[in-house]
Order: sequence, then C-alpha cells, then structure tokens
Amino acid sequence: MNTDPNVTLVTPDAPIAAATHGGRAKCLQRLTRLNLPVPPTVALSFPAVKEIAQGVLPDVDRIVSAFPSGGLLCVRPSSEDPDWGGPGAILNIGMNDACFEELRSELGADAAARIYARFVQSYAVHVARLDPDVFEHVTCASPQEALQECLTAYEDEAEEAFPQDPARQLSDVLKSMARAWEGTTARLLRQARGAPPDAGLGLVVQRMVFGIGKGESGSGVLQLVDTATGAPQVTGRYLSQSQGREALKPESEALFLTHDPRGPSLQDIAPKAFGALVEYAELMRRKLREEMQVEFALDDGEVHILDGVRVARSARASVRIAVDLAADGIIPREEALMRIPPRTLNELLHRQVDPEAPRDLIGTGIAASPGAATGKIVFSSTEAQASAARGEPCILVRRETNPEDIRGMHVSAAVLTEKGGITSHAAVIGRGMGLPCVVGANDMRFQVRQKTLTAPDGRVFTQGDEITIDGSTGQVLAGAPPLLEAAQDDAFQAIMDWAKEASDLGIRANADTPVDAQTARNFDAEGIGLCRTEHMFFEADRLTVMREMIFTADPEDRREVLERLLPMQRADFTELFRIMEGKPVTIRLFDPPLHEFLPSDRSGQRELAEALDLPLSDVTRRVDALREYNPMLGMRGVRLGVTVPEIYEMQARAIFEATLAASAEGDPVVPEIMIPLVSAKREVELVKTRVDAVAAAVRNEQERDFTYRLGVMVETPRAALRAGEIAQHCAFLSFGTNDLTQMTYGLSRDDAGRFMSVYVQQGVYAEDPFHTLDIEGVGELLKLGAERGRAAQPGLTLSICGEHGGNPESIAFCREAGFDYVSCSPFRVPVARLAAAQLAI
Ligand code: PEP
Ligand code: MG
Repeated sequence: MNTDPNVTLVTPDAPIAAATHGGRAKCLQRLTRLNLPVPPTVALSFPAVKEIAQGVLPDVDRIVSAFPSGGLLCVRPSSEDPDWGGPGAILNIGMNDACFEELRSELGADAAARIYARFVQSYAVHVARLDPDVFEHVTCASPQEALQECLTAYEDEAEEAFPQDPARQLSDVLKSMARAWEGTTARLLRQARGAPPDAGLGLVVQRMVFGIGKGESGSGVLQLVDTATGAPQVTGRYLSQSQGREALKPESEALFLTHDPRGPSLQDIAPKAFGALVEYAELMRRKLREEMQVEFALDDGEVHILDGVRVARSARASVRIAVDLAADGIIPREEALMRIPPRTLNELLHRQVDPEAPRDLIGTGIAASPGAATGKIVFSSTEAQASAARGEPCILVRRETNPEDIRGMHVSAAVLTEKGGITSHAAVIGRGMGLPCVVGANDMRFQVRQKTLTAPDGRVFTQGDEITIDGSTGQVLAGAPPLLEAAQDDAFQAIMDWAKEASDLGIRANADTPVDAQTARNFDAEGIGLCRTEHMFFEADRLTVMREMIFTADPEDRREVLERLLPMQRADFTELFRIMEGKPVTIRLFDPPLHEFLPSDRSGQRELAEALDLPLSDVTRRVDALREYNPMLGMRGVRLGVTVPEIYEMQARAIFEATLAASAEGDPVVPEIMIPLVSAKREVELVKTRVDAVAAAVRNEQERDFTYRLGVMVETPRAALRAGEIAQHCAFLSFGTNDLTQMTYGLSRDDAGRFMSVYVQQGVYAEDPFHTLDIEGVGELLKLGAERGRAAQPGLTLSICGEHGGNPESIAFCREAGFDYVSCSPFRVPVARLAAAQLAI
C-alpha cells in the first residue's frame, strides 16, 4: 500500500507530511514513531480527497485491505492546521445487521444495539443528509427497540433500507466528508480562521477501538496541564462504555482522571492504564515538543491512543506552557518566545471578562485601551471623585474627554465616550494609565446633561447603574459579568527577561506622572521616550496658576506667574529622574493650545472670573480671543514656544534644576528636551538659543555642570521632509505618528471615529491609520525623515513615540528603518518588547 503516497498506511517511514496529508495524519505518524499503541490507520492525501470531492470513486478495497483483521472503522478530518476545522468524525463504519449479530454475542445485545443505532443516525444526518428531526420520535424504551425505530425511520425517509455493504458505507462517508470541505460555509469559516483559499483536506481512516465491551472499557481525553493556567496538572475526563468524545459532553457522568471528589477517578479504577497514559503523554510532550491532549480508549483495561491534538489554551496558559517547555530543555528559549503572539500578553496585563461568561451587550465602540472593569455610571469628573471618596468603583461616561477630565479618569475604573478614535484624548490617556477604555460608542445615546445613557435596544441607564467596559473588545455590557484577574506571574517575567535579552531594539515608555514612570520601570522600560508635560498642569493647584498666566498682559507679568509654577515643575521632573535612576527621560515642552486650559461653559467662566477677581466679560473676551477654527493646526507646540517663550524658559529651568538635584543624589541624569510640532529649522534655532541660555544661567548660578540633549518631535510632513536641516541642531528626532498621521491624511484624530468604520469596511483604508501605521504614506515620510536626518547627523538617535510605538507591525517597520527605539504606553511595553524580540530571532 505504501507505494502510493495518496493513500498510505500510517507507519513510521510512510511519506506523510502536514502539508500534504494534514496535521492529524502527521501527528498520528509521530505517535507510531514513538511506538505508542495507535490502532492501524490509513491517511488520504489532499489530492486524493480533492479527487473524491470531484466525483472520482475512492478505492475502498485498497483502504480496507490495510486492515487485515477486519473490524469497524472511523474517519476523521486532517486539515493542515487543526484550527481550520473540518467535517465531524464518523465512527463505527461497517456496522450492519451481520455485525450486530456478531457483536451481540461479544458485547451483549444492548451495547451492540447502541453502537448500531448511533451509526445509523450519524450516517443518516452527515452522509445521507437526512433531517435530524427524523429521529425525534425514537423512544428510549430499550436500546434494541430504539435501534429498530432508527432503522425504520431511515428507511421511510431515505426510501431505501439502511445500506449493509461496509464498502459502500465507507465510500459514501469519504465522499460526503470530502464534499463538506468544499462547501461555501466551511470555506468561509476556515478562511476566517486564517486558512488560504486553496487549503486542502486529508482524511484518516482508523480501525475502531470500541470503548464498549468487557472489563474496563471506555474512552476519554488526558492532558498534563491546566487549560486556563498552563500549570502542570493531569486533567481530562473518562467515561466507561463510551466512544469518541462522549466523555466531554457536559451532561455525561464522566470521571475525573485523578482526585475526583465525587467518587473514584480513572486512577482509582484503572491505575495501570492511568499510569501508562501519563507516561505516554509525557513522552509526547518531550518528543513532539508541545503540550498535547491525548484521545484514548480502553479495551478491557488495555490502552489505545487514538489521536493527539495540541492542548487548547488561554493566553496565560500559552505563556506558562512555553516557559515550562524551555525550562525543561525541550525547546530553546528563542522558540518559546516565538510561540507567543505578542498581543496575547494584553490578556495577562489587565483584567478580562471571563470568556465563558454570558455577555449582556448594550453598546459597541472602538477598543481603545485593553482590560475590563465594572462600576457605577458617573457623567462627570466631579461625580467620579465623589464616587471614589465613597469607595465605589465608577465608570466615567462622557461625550468626549478633555484634559480637565484627567482627574476624573484617575479615580475611575474605566472610561466610555461617545466620540473619538484610537488617538483621541480618552484613548491616549486611558492606555497610558492602563485604564480600560471604549471610545466612539456612537451606537448608544449619550445624554450627559440628563444623565442617561441609552442602548440601541432602547434600554436606558442612569447615574449609579452598574455597567462593565471591555476595552479589549470595545463592548459595553450591562451589570457585572465575572472577570479574570491579570496574571503577571513568574512565567510572564521569564518571557520578559528572555525577550529583553533577544531584542536589538530599545523599548521606552510614554510616561507623564510618577505613577506612569513606576509602571514603566516595573516593565523594565529602557527609559521614558515621551513625557507630555502639559498633563502636569491640570492638577487643581496648578490649573489656577496656569489660567492666571493666560490672563497676564505682558511678558514680565507672565514670568512672575510662571515663577510660581517653577517649583512644581522642578519637583515633577526630579521625581521622574529619581524613579528612572539615570535612564534617559525625554521631556516634551508644552504642546497644547492655551484655550484647553480655560473653561468652555458659562458657569466655569463665572467661577474663573471669581477666582481671578476679574469681570466676567474679561474672561469671555479672553476665551473668545483664544478660540481657533482649527486648534490642532493653530497656536500650539513650538509656535507657542516662539511667541510666548516664557513658558519654555520656565520648563527648561525646571528641567535643569531637577537634573542637578537628582544627579546630586544618584546616577547622573542627562535630560532630553523635545520640541513639539516643528515645521521649520528656524523654530528649532530660536528655541535652542533660549534653552541654551537658560542652561548657561543655571550652570552659573549653581556653579555645577551638566549636559542635556535637545531634539525635535517630527509631527508635521514638512519636518519629515526637511529633517536634513532640522537635524543639524538636534541630538535626536522622535516621530510623533499621531499628529503626523493626522496631518498626512488631513484627518482629524478626534473626529475620524465617526466615519472610520465605514472607511475600513468599504476598503478605503485597509485599517485605521491611527491604530496601524500607514506604511505606504506616513511610513514613507518616516523613512525619508530618518534617511535625511541621519545623512546630516550620523549619530542622530531615531525613535517613534506616537501610539503606533506599541503596535507589533509598526515596530517591525521601525526596526527595518534603522530606528533606535520605540516608545509606547507603559502597559504596552511587554507587547512591544516581545514583538521586537521576535523580529530579532
Ligand atoms: C504624536 O503626535 O504622535 C504624539 C506622540 O503627541 P500627542 O499624541 O501628544 O499629540
Ligand atoms: Mg503630537
């Protein structure tokens, strides 16, 4: 038989490969190589099955001749990747009246009748394509009566007696399974799981081991690890007098394999078989270099191995399993790293909604920051703070957030907004804080003033109602479904250590506060790649001073007010430097438009007028004066630095004084000062002159020296194009891909959420470019900027600090383009590091 590779007996030397016969056939061959007790098996190749689907009759005689001792057969699918699925297995092929008579003397009439009836039903539904309802009326009186009813029902419906010829039965089973694979639904399903359009199907024909019969007979599955945690633990189910995967049916009374609190386990009733099974599973783990689930049958106490499949596993278990295989010397560390898809780490870093739990869906938006949290709805930051004071977890629900909401976000368990996309304020801050966040949930109605939130199905939720935000899927759920805890255990830590060793790309974190910086340290980030300093001005005591500064009439007054902010900023930076212990810290000078610091509504403006002791009309006039048609393209970033230079001067002084303070206590600090939103060389020159002057002044005053690095944030297309001349004044360029994407597309990052899903659905954009770097367009600017910058300044440090910095595909691009590091939200550091390690392996 083994001269034809298309229909081949599975022996250790047969020409079988997963790419030609499927993963199951290949696995069974490996099991025979390990000398495991696998029943005789024949593998049909992809071309052989394709021919059968096209109408060529299968050569059943050749297949049957491979089973000289006769017996019933079963057929199972064998696709290249088991995850692609395939038609269900069909057992007991060859069962007929004559066989029934033989089996009845061997197994007893009831057992024989059960096997026969089960085969009739499965053949009827899967092969003859009869409606399963045909068997609805079959009574449970006695197995033999039930068998008669099944045979009669078949005959009535199929208009022929149940086929008795085993060869015809096998031929029909093979045909129907081959055709099922070609069906449209099956094709769509497997393509959704990643199968190519021309994926083939192999079939394996195996001699049945009954699992029904004398002594201890039955079937079950066994694995050596827990599916949820990956921890070593023999798990599985066994059911006496059963076949196939009956033991796994929830209603079955299957036994645990060991330590069954309900009574004896398999280990108790068949210790020898249990011992052999564990030994076989351990051998499979070592030789197949994977945790395998063993499908087995016992026949009068004797063990048969029917199949082996890769253990299904949670994200957490996949990490533990890979680490344990490497620790046991079964796979090298590099392979352990390669086996974990980087994004699955998100599931270990944050709480998750239990995937098994029912979900009461009340809205959907963009999954902006992973993790899940439950809390009571609040509609403002003030309410969030009150809720936190009562010790009640809350969900901050806003149409969109603005910098003033940061205090509310800090005390909330999660955030939900109606508007916004993946780089909107709520999304960026949420990811930075590791706070679950769903934005752009515009299928819900947000009536923030009335304090109601209405689901698309009409259900209305009000303040205090409990909801759950799933920031990993973008779902909003009613109530409190069970959550799984984050799991940064020792296996996670081992993967992180190995990844750092293997990786050749730096990973820094975007961190604005000491808490962020500590998180970055905990994840072993190699520094801070972006500290957005404006976030430091929103705390209540500073906000008032900031507002006062906005109302000053001339530079002298402004300097005076800024003097009061100086010690606060100095303390902020000193703390960051202390936490980072000499690792690089890139501080971005003030970036947002000033109007963001002023209240937009009347009552806020009245309060401000009171606080500053000004007429309300002065306040409203100033607010109006600062209003811009297009604030993202207006007076912000370096434009403020050039026109209102006192702010940058104060920040530079705070940075330098903090540098000296932190260096006096610990490792020397070399701060990196970054200028945002540059588009022209002259802007850099102007800022550089002033920053250098402040540095000289601080050196003189303190009679101590220090160094610093000045760099530019490339966020405008012009800065990328003119990187050659801009870089002449810089030690580094960091690409801010959020604004660069916004400006390259001319697409507002705060409003794109409204139509992004339509654009992606209709194929205008392959993906949301704020989420996945647009390699063709924005990427081209990055490459140009990097090349031109490096040509002018060979030692120039290059990095990316937009949200794309945590995205595995964008990381691959940056590494290829010769960047030194990527910087991302602290909670994305592990994903970025693993992605970088995989690229280097
Ligand atoms: C950017 O624009 O990519 C960036 C990191 O800055 P921000 O998100 O603060 O505008
Ligand atoms: Mg920016």
